[in-house]
Amino acid sequence: MSRIYLSPPDVGPAEREALLRALDSGWVAPAGPELDAFESELAEATGRAYAVALSSGTAALHLALLGLGVGPGDEVLVPTLTFVASANSVRYVGAEPVFLDSEEHSWNVDPALIVETLNAFARQGRLPAAAVTVDLYGRCANYPEIVAACESRGVPIVEDAAEALGATCGSAPAGSFGAASTLSFNGNKIITTSAGGALVTDDAQFADRARHLATQAREPTIHYEHADLGFNYRMSNLLAALGRAQLAGLPARIEARSEVMNRYRDALGRLAGLSFAPEPRWGRSNCWLTCVTIDPVVARGTRDDVLAALDTADIEARPTWKPMHRQPLYEHARARLTGVADKVFDQGLCLPSGSSLAVADQDRVIEAILAVLGPE
Ligand SMILES: *Cc1c(COP(=O)(O)O)cnc(C)c1O
Repeated sequence: MSRIYLSPPDVGPAEREALLRALDSGWVAPAGPELDAFESELAEATGRAYAVALSSGTAALHLALLGLGVGPGDEVLVPTLTFVASANSVRYVGAEPVFLDSEEHSWNVDPALIVETLNAFARQGRLPAAAVTVDLYGRCANYPEIVAACESRGVPIVEDAAEALGATCGSAPAGSFGAASTLSFNGNKIITTSAGGALVTDDAQFADRARHLATQAREPTIHYEHADLGFNYRMSNLLAALGRAQLAGLPARIEARSEVMNRYRDALGRLAGLSFAPEPRWGRSNCWLTCVTIDPVVARGTRDDVLAALDTADIEARPTWKPMHRQPLYEHARARLTGVADKVFDQGLCLPSGSSLAVADQDRVIEAILAVLGPE
């Protein structure tokens, strides 16, 4: 039996063909027609006017904050329950994150804490330079409330939609909120270019500026002229071809992941102490990862017992993200906490959820969990 991975890349003949097509076309240089086409398809998928394809989701976050003019001395609201890149990008531009806790019914940032924090800032006569929101595990944050809170204070939003491509909030797609949104095509995400990301926005100047900074801020002269500090953050034409093939298969990948989630629900949903991550009422998940929490007081075992059993069965599973306020890197950062993120981290577990996960492999995961948590 081979090892089962959490969320491996799902590539096949379509990706192979797309890569060879790009290679045979001679566009092995960074730019090219596949890159242009991938960008328009990404803009379309996120309901945006512009997309800039980049080397990673982290690069996209960095450029989004630079585009908003965030810099030294600024503070940026960031959910504490997220992957570290959401917070590190704030540090890249010399600003400081202020971490906010999650709400119970989506695990995303608690809009009430945004309101409270903005009020507290305003009482001191200042405001955060931006708010980064994260659409965790494929579920959109509560944008109706978040957008209202931030707009009333004029604080711009950067939506980190790295985990949520294909999800919705009301009738709007993930990636359509805020001044700019960022996507990731890292190997473990719902679609992948092996490594890659994108910034999407409705603002032509914002997109142009991101594209400029992503290509070493080279001025349009015959010699190499640079007025700004740029980066080498552009996606290549070859990887864009891979991304186009993956994006065309996004609906099928969402469907496959949702079937995996439903199968876990059917098999494990009645176990004492085990709960599935909440599905918020305002949107539809892309089912990127199936996450559960295991309450040690009620369940027959702990989250760590289950992790150990899965590991013994050669199955990769992971605790949910460790909150930023508990990271050594951010131990001195400001944080407004309610305990929700701590509980999710202490009890949370991400199960193998890949779109190519065979039914027999899903059964292996289910059996290993039942062996720990099931009735005698
Ligand atoms: C994956 C991820 C990123 C970073 O994307 P990369 O492409 O790996 O740089 C940022 N934020 C969140 C929430 C992520 O899950």
